[in-house]
Amino acid sequence: MGPGGHNQTNESPGLIEVTNESHKNPAEHQYTVSIDDVTEDLMACTCPHHVDRNAYCTHMAVLR
Ligand SMILES: [Zn+2]
Repeated sequence: MGPGGHNQTNESPGLIEVTNESHKNPAEHQYTVSIDDVTEDLMACTCPHHVDRNAYCTHMAVLR
């Protein structure tokens, strides 16, 4: 990630962990968003909203 990046941890390229801090137990609402290394398009999220319904979820939204 370049300057002006995000607050999310970035342990490996293309994978960003997003934690929903608004929940009582943020650790139970931690998901991984996949990002295309080249285009930086958001590819997928591990949360039920995206997996079950292929929805554009809040985790992907916060990275925009
Ligand atoms: Zn999500």
